[in-house]
Amino acid sequence: MIQLKQQMIDTAKEMYDRGLVASVWGNLSARIPNTEWILVTPSGVDYRLMGPEDLVVIDMETGDIVAGKLKPTSELQMHLAILRARPDINAVMHTHSIFASACSAAHKEIPPLVEDIAQVVGGSVSVARYALPGTPELGANAVKALGKKNAVLLANHGVVGVGDDLMDALRVCTIVEKGAHIYAVTKTIGAPVLLSLDDVEYLRNAYRNHYGQDK
Ligand SMILES: [Zn+2]
Repeated sequence: MIQLKQQMIDTAKEMYDRGLVASVWGNLSARIPNTEWILVTPSGVDYRLMGPEDLVVIDMETGDIVAGKLKPTSELQMHLAILRARPDINAVMHTHSIFASACSAAHKEIPPLVEDIAQVVGGSVSVARYALPGTPELGANAVKALGKKNAVLLANHGVVGVGDDLMDALRVCTIVEKGAHIYAVTKTIGAPVLLSLDDVEYLRNAYRNHYGQDK
């Protein structure tokens, strides 16, 4: 648990340093191994000042606070909805990065124009139907649009990335932002040329099965 808490603080600071969130926005969650609990970031604490003692432990089933002094993230319901719907992933990150948020504001999905987004997301990043922040609808809409992929856009709001662990979720959010940036620039140069669905599937499977040292 101490290790996971430190990992969450390190990942949150890295998310902030990469410019994926401003000030206190964005949030993270991760399953606590061998328990029915998850660890989440608190509401309204600046990432530069956040420490392991500020993190909150939540019961997955009830959503109740198990441990922690602070209020959990206001997007707790969305984190719970995604973690309940996707037993294959262990961590969720929500950011407000600029280009991806611009796509979410235009209700434009981010197509996999380059290979890394096909690899880490598994296809285009779809836009979930709009719902107000903090509502159960936001979580339900995000789950529906996310499907089996690793990222989704929340309409007029931002990004959610999911992964095997917190660093993996950070990688997803970073690649989504890069993909949104490339998409926006490509549209100013000419018409984007999409990868074929077969190529996207091949890239995704190759990444999942063989990428890295021993995955
Ligand atoms: Zn948000």
